[in-house]
Amino acid sequence: MNTKAKIKLRECLCGCGGRTKGGRFLPGHDAKLKKALVADARAGKKRAVNKLEKLGWSKFLHPRAELAP
Ligand SMILES: [Zn+2]
Repeated sequence: MNTKAKIKLRECLCGCGGRTKGGRFLPGHDAKLKKALVADARAGKKRAVNKLEKLGWSKFLHPRAELAP
């Protein structure tokens, strides 16, 4: 008997077109996208800011470590 695999392959959210095994990103791709989005957001790109918020990464825009006196 055949049993249908219920594992949904999801597309990596970084836009590389790769398929993950259920996660949002392929290994390492989240860090790559995060870095690019933070750079874009700091350059004033509203779209990057929105995407960071959507992914729950807006905190990376305001790292407290950079608020040195
Ligand atoms: Zn990717």
